[in-house]
Amino acid sequence: MSKIHVMDEILANKIAAGEVVERCSSVVKELVENSIDAGATLIKVELKEAGTKEIKVTDNGSGMDREDAVQAFSRHATSKLISEDDLYRIDTLGFRGEALPSIASVSEVTLITSTGDVGTIVKISGGKLLSVENGDARKGTIFQVQNLFYNTPARLKHLKSLYAELGSITDYMNKIALSHPDIQFRLYNNDNEILNTDGTNHLLKTIKAVYGLNVARKMIEVNTSDEDYKVTGYISMPEVHRSSRNHMVTIVNGRVVRNQELNRIINDSYHSFKPDTRYPIVVLEIEVDPSLVDVNIHPTKMDIKFSKLEELKELIANEIQNKLHHKNLVVKAEPTVSEEVITKPKYVEQTLVLEKEMPEQKVTFPEWEEEEIIVNSDFVNEDETLFESQNENNQELEMEKRMPEMYPVGIVHGTYIICQNEEGMFLIDQHAAKERVNYEYYMKKLGNPNQISTPLLFPITIELSTSEFILIKGKLDVLRNMKFVVEEFGYQSLLVKEHPTWLPKDYVEDSIRKMIEIIIQEGKHFSIEKFNEKIATMMSCKHAIKANQYVDMKEIEQLIFDLRKCDNPFNCPHGRPTTVFFTNYDLEKLFKRSGFENLK
Ligand code: ZN
Ligand code: ZN
Repeated sequence: MSKIHVMDEILANKIAAGEVVERCSSVVKELVENSIDAGATLIKVELKEAGTKEIKVTDNGSGMDREDAVQAFSRHATSKLISEDDLYRIDTLGFRGEALPSIASVSEVTLITSTGDVGTIVKISGGKLLSVENGDARKGTIFQVQNLFYNTPARLKHLKSLYAELGSITDYMNKIALSHPDIQFRLYNNDNEILNTDGTNHLLKTIKAVYGLNVARKMIEVNTSDEDYKVTGYISMPEVHRSSRNHMVTIVNGRVVRNQELNRIINDSYHSFKPDTRYPIVVLEIEVDPSLVDVNIHPTKMDIKFSKLEELKELIANEIQNKLHHKNLVVKAEPTVSEEVITKPKYVEQTLVLEKEMPEQKVTFPEWEEEEIIVNSDFVNEDETLFESQNENNQELEMEKRMPEMYPVGIVHGTYIICQNEEGMFLIDQHAAKERVNYEYYMKKLGNPNQISTPLLFPITIELSTSEFILIKGKLDVLRNMKFVVEEFGYQSLLVKEHPTWLPKDYVEDSIRKMIEIIIQEGKHFSIEKFNEKIATMMSCKHAIKANQYVDMKEIEQLIFDLRKCDNPFNCPHGRPTTVFFTNYDLEKLFKRSGFENLK
């Protein structure tokens, strides 16, 4: 029986035709998701000129019979949906199929498909059926789209640069690969390989294929659940971060979704472990009863709503914080490998030259036998180091043991403390380390309501502008709760009579001014947590030893002692590393000592 049912008219009208085909990436998305639905375990996407000349998607899925192959291009046909009601009960990747006629109407399409007996070749140009012929019987589908938008020049103009088109396709392919580690994905542009995943259903290996070995080695496994949600996946160590939020990937029941609140909670969970303007690499798989989520049914969107969002946020935040607080996160120096080079997307290196002539029109069935992954020794070694470092990463350490014991031996440039232990050498940034120690001290003080205050011998007058004064008058409680004794004084001044004991006396005026500044900046969004954090960060920096400031050995020992006791000894409150570690092996490598057996 035909798998394609003709949709009823109402539904067809609801789906704005063509809306789905905006860019090359929307064609790739459509075709790849059809392949997934067809049960493919290998999906190969080959592009010419970032897809503008040609997009060819080859799969080993169930294929179509002759009738379905032809009907797939008739406008109101889909294999997914039978009636309007079905729209609201979608648990596959979404509703699609209706995009094929749209794609075929703005390009030249060749479809070669077979369910395993007789194959079918359908050719369509600008929406017109040119021919239907018998083809190869090998099971699977090849969908070739050439010269996209050739008959709609206005659309063609709208395509962004080749670089942007390829970037968008790569981004999509990376995410679909991460959400389906059990499927082998290949992506090529002008015969250059961009992505190649092994389909062994191992998420970490897929992460390696997408982000490179260096990132994969620095991923921490997460795994937690409650009655409603199960959350698994990987989060990057805080030293690995990116300028874009785009690498926080959330997959809900196998589908990549977008939820800003989840991104925010993930990012906030890293607070003070990394700079606030940088974002971690995170791949989270969330399993939940479909009745608890509401997926926006627009075919091009991936927005999702959770009915128990707060619960999920807490579950994720707790798990990430728990993992970050039980690991040795000292940055390891990697003297010989530059991470930037390795993790740069591969397509950057490719030259994107628009070819004048038409690409060769050759369509053949895939030779799966040739596609076998060749397991060479390099590959095995890479995976071994991947899993070795994973074992290291997943070691849960007690709080005191996370930051290893180390012994200071000297200072470079009055700034970097050199320490050593049996494992190797540490460099500690004295300012960053002291900032961290101070920060945690001030956070404790600020969070504790039972403070006492000290009277000032001479009260301090703080003059403000009229607008500052008006704003601050409504917020004097914030200062009073911190155990400042402040009064209004004249038209636009404050009189400070007492200050909390933990605040150094010669710093009262400066700090009050800064506090007022922060209160004014935050305005309506004022929250005491954020305020405390900002105050603690600001004061921790002001009162830290500066770079180039002399400190004696005793102070250094105290600093290392205090740092090791911190909740997060690895970063300053701004997210910079406090400590960098060189293993003995790294040192030997730097001096070309390793490998020379007879070296003394
Ligand atoms: Zn600082
Ligand atoms: Zn800092």
